[in-house]
Amino acid sequence: MAMLNNLLLFTLTFQLLFSLHVSLESSHTTGDASQFRKKFLELAKTPEVFDWMVRIRRKIHENPELGYQEFETSKLIRSELDIIGVKYRYPVAVTGVIGYIGIGEPPFVALRADMDALTMQEGVEWEHKSKIAGKMHACGHDGHVAMLLGAAKLLQQHRHVLQGTVVLIFQPAEEGLGGAKKMIEEGALKHVEAIFGIHFTNRVPLGKAASRPGSMLAGTSFFEAVITGKGGHAAIPQHTVDPVIAASSVVLNLQHLVSRETDPLDSKVVTVSKVNGGNAFNVIPDSVTIGGTLRAFTSFSQLEQRVKEVITNQATVHRCNASVNLRPNGKEPLPPTVNDVGLYKQFKNMVGDLLGEESFAEASPIMGGEDFSYFAEAIPGHFAFLGMQDETKSYASAHSSLYRVNEDALPYGAAVHASMAVQYLKDKASQGYDTPKGFHDEL
Ligand SMILES: [Zn+2]
Ligand SMILES: [Zn+2]
Repeated sequence: MAMLNNLLLFTLTFQLLFSLHVSLESSHTTGDASQFRKKFLELAKTPEVFDWMVRIRRKIHENPELGYQEFETSKLIRSELDIIGVKYRYPVAVTGVIGYIGIGEPPFVALRADMDALTMQEGVEWEHKSKIAGKMHACGHDGHVAMLLGAAKLLQQHRHVLQGTVVLIFQPAEEGLGGAKKMIEEGALKHVEAIFGIHFTNRVPLGKAASRPGSMLAGTSFFEAVITGKGGHAAIPQHTVDPVIAASSVVLNLQHLVSRETDPLDSKVVTVSKVNGGNAFNVIPDSVTIGGTLRAFTSFSQLEQRVKEVITNQATVHRCNASVNLRPNGKEPLPPTVNDVGLYKQFKNMVGDLLGEESFAEASPIMGGEDFSYFAEAIPGHFAFLGMQDETKSYASAHSSLYRVNEDALPYGAAVHASMAVQYLKDKASQGYDTPKGFHDEL
């Protein structure tokens, strides 16, 4: 008990000294916040930080790991955090890592990177090509990890100016396996008030960023159906119940759900992307399996209901049966990614200050999905795209076998991450932040 009291006294003294230090520090950093940010960018471009991020990114690229299997990636992250001197929690959601930099007290602001690769064969021939056949980092998550570690290095070097705590979230399984959801279930957002995420894009020039307030990325849902008839000889169709005709009718009729039943101003997508049935020229198969995806910024329930009705009723018209699975492989629908308006303004101002006003562009909403949406649904969140397109080369879009990360974008990502965290905590402090009652430091 006495030891506990001494510890408490020590903690209080430390906090008092720390807050004194912070207030002295902030008294001469508040006025020159932009200089501070520029320093982050300069530092991120030095060989010490830049070459180190490139090495990490290439190492992860050579050894791509799928969702919830990112054991080596996670180990690499932890060993780098150990070297930098950043404390972390592990494991969270199997392979996830959560690092903490700052005073270990509120406010807490999170920065997020995803770690998983895709089931694809890399088509780019280069020195650091994927060494695992059929697996590839084709969405830039190797780079996302490297630039969040870059931000960790910058923030750790300047931890004395942090007026709160930065939470570094390295999450598994973004590509369709709900890694973000699992991280939240395992307490990743405990005490966290806001979260920022960055994703590379080839649609924005290098050194620039784009985002928007409100709906940014669509919600995503999947479906699969088996349409069963009675197979037989292709030359004697009258003795069969042809599931190919039924499936064809289903595919065409599904297209009317958006074109005829949806408000044209409410963006939705119904795509049938998978059709499997039959494997001979002269045999009508017993069944055909179709599958696809739905995208929307609003609720899916009505659209899912109609997808089910169209598939089963069209199958019946053609004397077939259909079973419809709206959660194939247990895939839960992904909510839309909605950016908090206040965080958007903070981000836009910060990027304007760091990289120049012309370096921020308002993005259009897109129908792609991101599981960052789970974070932004739970607490205020902001997701942004970071440009990597330059005049010298062309960069393929995400999920292409020819996808490449422009490594020159890494310093921008590290500086944007670090600057946003510092800015968020600074703004909170200037609003007179009160530590919530009942807070327990669990770091
Ligand atoms: Zn992806
Ligand atoms: Zn991605």
